[in-house]
Amino acid sequence: MSKLNEECGIFGIFEAEEAAVHTTLGLHALQHRGQEGAGIVSFDGKSFYSIKKEGLVGDNFNNKEILSQLPGNTAIGHVRYSTTGESKSENLQPLFANLALGGFACAHNGNLTNTMSLKKQLVDTGSIFQTTSDTELILQLVARSKKQKLMDKLVDALYQIKGAYSLIILTNKKLIGIKDPFGIRPLVLGDKNGSPVLASETCALDIIGAKYIRDIENGEIIVITKNGIESVRPFKKVNQRPCIFERIYFASPDSIIDGQTVYTYRKALGEQLAIENDTINADIVVPIPDSGVSAAIGYSQKSGLPFELGIIRSHYVGRTFIEPTQNIRQLGVKLKHSVNRSCVKNKKVILIDDSIVRGTTANKIVNMVYEAGAKEVHLGISCPPIKFPDYYGIDTPNNDELMASENNINSMRKLVGAKSLFFLSLEGTYKAMGCKTRDPKNPQFSDHCFTGDYPIDVSEIIKAKKNNAQKK
Ligand code: AMP
Repeated sequence: MSKLNEECGIFGIFEAEEAAVHTTLGLHALQHRGQEGAGIVSFDGKSFYSIKKEGLVGDNFNNKEILSQLPGNTAIGHVRYSTTGESKSENLQPLFANLALGGFACAHNGNLTNTMSLKKQLVDTGSIFQTTSDTELILQLVARSKKQKLMDKLVDALYQIKGAYSLIILTNKKLIGIKDPFGIRPLVLGDKNGSPVLASETCALDIIGAKYIRDIENGEIIVITKNGIESVRPFKKVNQRPCIFERIYFASPDSIIDGQTVYTYRKALGEQLAIENDTINADIVVPIPDSGVSAAIGYSQKSGLPFELGIIRSHYVGRTFIEPTQNIRQLGVKLKHSVNRSCVKNKKVILIDDSIVRGTTANKIVNMVYEAGAKEVHLGISCPPIKFPDYYGIDTPNNDELMASENNINSMRKLVGAKSLFFLSLEGTYKAMGCKTRDPKNPQFSDHCFTGDYPIDVSEIIKAKKNNAQKK
């Protein structure tokens, strides 16, 4: 059975004029979370309307004609990004179904970890699936629940799914926001002139001039109706474990998490990297743009070395490994970056990036900088080595493709071709996040990419991957 990993952006607005236009803008602000496709479902008090398109929000939801096909004062939307082989248009979200109690649209950011067993159970007992998206499971479970009321059906479904999920759901009376018990993926509540708004990140509130109210808490369901906003907590309380990689790489630098911009955290990561590696003799600090810019500013300010734009990034190419095949990914890096020769020639350069996944970007850029005449190229990474796959909705590959999973730091250094390669420590990463130290018994974050400490059981996914590999 095929399955889908997604890192996505979600948005919803309740009882506001031009709901679809606001949703389009919100999705545009969340475009960094997924570029393969976008969808909007609106509701006009009688009917639901749905449009889903492959490609960028701005290319598809950009004229009156299309937006007039999404009437109504309430709407939800989704931007999507998928892994290899699954970029099918039927997997675009929000997914919609006409259930016994009425229309039900769902937008999901995250990844369920018990998809296989649940899907098998459902298929064995007669369910028909139209997509390979794990989100469809949620619709099926709600549809099949024996409970009477919609909220009871929903909670019944949530009790059966495991994994990382931030959800926005639209029904004929409600806009609902949900965060999984560990709060792995983000979700915030805002207000646009009295109309409640839900979004993955605060940057989607800013673009429509909405006020940030608060984060949805881990394990919380927010139910928005004409009568107001209600909070429901059906799960046993556990400590939240938000994914640390949102702050390191995924979220937009201008989004606010826990009272600070993501930019501030990233700059602190760079400062911490400079504190931990203060013996490298170099002339300039150069970011690998855009992802390395904030950390490079922090590194430069802390080390006192000048910050230079030695690499230029084309803004007409998307994020490196959003494209599904390795060949295209490699081409992507070449298309995306070029060297500012005069800046790096005869210089000892410290390149800074936020992370190494497969090592494709690092290898290409180190070579490009040497070819442009740099004397030495050092590479600093503002997070620890990524040794473990994500499984909770970020498209990191299997262990055998993760460079740090297969290599030690010295062999990675050789592979990327740098004179030295240095990573931020795990403790340093926590310091930059404002924690005194990583609490080993109760880590403040889900840092599974670095530690292999997965707060939600992933054995079913690992087993399925092993079986698939053996079949090949
Ligand atoms: P790689 O070239 O495979 O080593 O990927 C590392 C580059 O991709 C870095 O510049 C990161 O900023 C960026 N990156 C890290 N994680 C992700 C992700 N989950 N999706 C897309 N890009 C990423």
